Amino acid sequence: MKKYDAIVIGTGSAMIIVQGLLSMNPDSRIAVIDKYRPRGICLTRGCIPSKMVISVAEIIADIEKTRELGVDAEIKSVDFGRIMKRMS
Ligand SMILES: Cc1cc2nc3c(=O)[nH]c(=O)nc-3n(C[C@H](O)[C@H](O)[C@H](O)COP(=O)(O)OP(=O)(O)OC[C@H]3O[C@@H](n4cnc5c(N)ncnc54)[C@H](O)[C@@H]3O)c2cc1C
Repeated sequence: MKKYDAIVIGTGSAMIIVQGLLSMNPDSRIAVIDKYRPRGICLTRGCIPSKMVISVAEIIADIEKTRELGVDAEIKSVDFGRIMKRMS
């Protein structure tokens, strides 16, 4: 049977613990298990992907407000498929 110094389930913020253990002992044997894509929800389908969509919405809202500032800008189209592809 394989032996480990630590077994970590989940690769979100738990990786901070892994990093700490490895910085204390680079020879540590650590098993990391994740049932989904590694790196945790924040990076894979939470904070970062959602901001990639929200930031586009903010840019659109800013452009729509430019007329108040004396700038005549126009949004010709929004390629939502491309926005979602960039996010995934
Ligand atoms: C759409 C969205 C937007 C968000 N935006 C923000 C934001 O702007 N700011 C913010 O602070 N927070 C935000 N969050 C919350 C943030 O993503 C979470 O608070 C954060 O990811 C929690 O980190 P964690 O390491 O505790 O858990 P997670 O990131 O959920 O990591 C847990 C990991 O464990 C794995 N796992 C779970 N159960 C098992 C199992 N039984 N076996 C093996 N692996 C398992 C999962 O696959 C996952 O990779 C957002 C969340 C979502 C969904």
